[in-house]
Amino acid sequence: SFRAILIENESGKQSVRLAELPRDSLPDGDVTVRVACSTLNYKDALAITGKGPVVRKFPMVPGIDLAGTVEESSSSEFKRGDKVVLNGWGVGEQHWGGLAEMARLKSDWLIPLEPAFSFAQAMSIGTAGYTAALCVMALERHGIKPGRGEVLVTGAAGGVGSVATTLLAKLGYDVVAVTGRMEESDYLTSLGAKRILPRSLFSEPGKPLAREQWAAAVDVAGGQVLVNVCASMKYRGVVAACGLAAGMSFPATVAPFILRGVTLVGIDSVMCPREERREAWRRLARDLDLHLLDAMTERVSLENCIPVADRLLAGAVRGRVIVPISID
Ligand code: NAP
Repeated sequence: SFRAILIENESGKQSVRLAELPRDSLPDGDVTVRVACSTLNYKDALAITGKGPVVRKFPMVPGIDLAGTVEESSSSEFKRGDKVVLNGWGVGEQHWGGLAEMARLKSDWLIPLEPAFSFAQAMSIGTAGYTAALCVMALERHGIKPGRGEVLVTGAAGGVGSVATTLLAKLGYDVVAVTGRMEESDYLTSLGAKRILPRSLFSEPGKPLAREQWAAAVDVAGGQVLVNVCASMKYRGVVAACGLAAGMSFPATVAPFILRGVTLVGIDSVMCPREERREAWRRLARDLDLHLLDAMTERVSLENCIPVADRLLAGAVRGRVIVPISID
């Protein structure tokens, strides 16, 4: 048997607990993985608390990320003992996920662990960090280079925001961090932010066009924040939008797009093709400062995931949360 966080739903009422499950309850898949470490992302917190429609099938083991060792494989691509990482693909939403001692998965979803990283470091990055790398790659693909002007990162003290801030600063960009927690200014400066702005500057409805300030932006907030970010981009600025921490809506005008040639790039990590994922992970292995990664990471036991999920949704967790399972 193996231990797992289990989300159940009885006639519309959700409950969640740490369960002991028989091994033959694992879903179908060609690779069985002994999970070394998992994480808590925003989406996992939505699943565990039931505050967002993340779980598509019950009962569900949450956890959109895992890193571990292959125990059994009928795929020619992976063999027993291989170290692997999984991010997304609907795992933890419609297929049992990583907040468990064991997982059975499709080999198409797995990528090898980058040798630069331990299991814990790969999970400190997790979906949040790999998404931050996809955002940076999208800005580059649209021609953004250091020296063009300041780059804004919203939700900077959260998971995606912390990794994006660190990566962009390391690549030579002048990062301006937006946060609802000005008390985290020293933390954000330590990650490489040049300036810190309060979230309140971005949360109220404003004019369709504001003063041109940012060459590029990474936005985890959506809602009114994303609208105001778009309105204050410089001519031909590029915004990578990946989140909805401020809301799903987008009450914008087309003015920034048609008058300033602003580009809004959508970022999805879940179904992102494998080659681009591997590229993002290689970039992280090259560009991420591991000391800063360790400094932005908190460790939580499998049983404590449930209370920490509430804290995460309340925006009270700094950086990343990892869940060591068969490592210390
Ligand atoms: P997280 O660690 O909880 O960080 C979210 C951060 O957003 C918070 O720490 C907070 O930062 C900020 N925030 C919270 N409430 C806000 C509000 N009302 N208005 C503006 N900012 C607010 O979560 P995460 O794992 O980094 O994920 C961030 C977002 O990206 C989530 O919406 C998540 O679903 C999304 N995401 C999307 C993808 C994708 O594939 N598209 C992948 C990963 C994550 P401050 O305290 O610094 O303001």
